[in-house]
Amino acid sequence: MPESSRENTSWVDEKDARIIYFLRPRARRISIKMDTAGRGVAVTVPGHARRLKDAQKFVHEKYDWILVQLETMPVAQPFVDGGEVLFRGELYKLYSPSLRGHPSFNKELGHLIVPAHPDTLAGRTKRFLIREAREALTNCTHVHASTLGKQVDKISVRDTSSRWGSCVSRKSGTHISYSWRLVCAPPFVLDYVAAHECAHLVHADHSKNFWGLCDELVDTVKPAKAWLRKHGDKLHAVGAEN
Ligand SMILES: [Zn+2]
Repeated sequence: MPESSRENTSWVDEKDARIIYFLRPRARRISIKMDTAGRGVAVTVPGHARRLKDAQKFVHEKYDWILVQLETMPVAQPFVDGGEVLFRGELYKLYSPSLRGHPSFNKELGHLIVPAHPDTLAGRTKRFLIREAREALTNCTHVHASTLGKQVDKISVRDTSSRWGSCVSRKSGTHISYSWRLVCAPPFVLDYVAAHECAHLVHADHSKNFWGLCDELVDTVKPAKAWLRKHGDKLHAVGAEN
């Protein structure tokens, strides 16, 4: 077994658990980056684990600045009874009126109703949102793929951190994967991401032709992209504990 595979490659800061150090053997210098998906700060430890001490010193020197950066992150929306949850682009109130029953939502009242024991509320709420995301994304994908006369062999919905969607074509078939968090964005944003990934069934790039095709599939490319740029971080705050 090579030496490196037995070593740690990440560490949590002793002072602030939101700060995580990552060993990057090829990196040249220590760097600090906001990790909105991870709801914290990612610090690059270049080269060897021995540099961890240097990185920690660097972080503690810059700690005031880091705190200011963390303040700008969207406020966490833990799944708790009475808490607010961004869902379909609007703020819903999460209610857990009973232990048993099927989760549902009421658009008029802005209520997300998830019957559960307090200990299982967070898990049940997340599973409900994933199910809603899967249904909405599957529908949109099929609509756009059939407009293009293309077939999608597999659609998956996951908790991806860096991309809202991806499209892979292999011999075994085409596979489109999405972040479940898109269900928290307005429906036109979710639909745009589905159209974007389906347009990749025709163009594997982001060429002019690709964007032209996106515009044919949906007429909200610009506002949807603007929404994701401006509010995308908020999607990562949904269900976050801190
Ligand atoms: Zn793309």
